[in-house]
Amino acid sequence: MTAQSQHASNVNILLIEDDPEIAQLLKVELGDAGYTVEWASSGMEGLVSLREKSPQLVILDLGLPDMDGAEVARRIKQHGDLPIIVLTATDAVERKVQLLLGGADDYLTKPFHPAELLARIQVQLRKGEGGEVRRIGELEVDVGARRLRHKGVEIQLSPKEFALMELLSSRPGRVFSRDEIERHIWGQPLKSGSNVVDVHIANLRSKLRDVGAYGYLRTVRGVGYALRQPKG
Ligand code: CA
Repeated sequence: MTAQSQHASNVNILLIEDDPEIAQLLKVELGDAGYTVEWASSGMEGLVSLREKSPQLVILDLGLPDMDGAEVARRIKQHGDLPIIVLTATDAVERKVQLLLGGADDYLTKPFHPAELLARIQVQLRKGEGGEVRRIGELEVDVGARRLRHKGVEIQLSPKEFALMELLSSRPGRVFSRDEIERHIWGQPLKSGSNVVDVHIANLRSKLRDVGAYGYLRTVRGVGYALRQPKG
């Protein structure tokens, strides 16, 4: 498996839907397809989850109790360029055009078959491949161009350092073990006692520090490493 391919098990989906029955159904269907689903039952809750869970895709019901769905979509796009599939109860063409112009990537009219939603999800995730840019705080991991930027300033990385950033940014916040990192980047576990991973992490951290990017690389002693948005 390569880091660029979007395996379902690697993909977090945020579902913003106030109807518990629909939410439950979709959670089961998407879960069966291998996706990790975070459910938020209001717009505000959804926006909080967006920051905490760093999903790769959002499914957004338009009719929410607390906020206009279109406003939620706008705020999601402000946070990062991730695909939004809108669920709408209306068939009105005007409303759909408005939605697409407002930043939604696709929409489905209720009621729909879960298989259709799954197909739409795959299309959106495939679109993101190649040209994918992952944003973690002020960092931009440009997977297609294999470049790393902080506040628009490019950070020169070796191919191995970029591969490390690519791996860690595939699941922000998740701790990757040394073994996983070695297998992913070198294709096999390295000799026991090797400190190659630590050296690469230290180099990366110092390059990030040079451009004022602090607190992104987290070491969990005895467990591994994670990339995350710095606190505060
Ligand atoms: Ca609703």
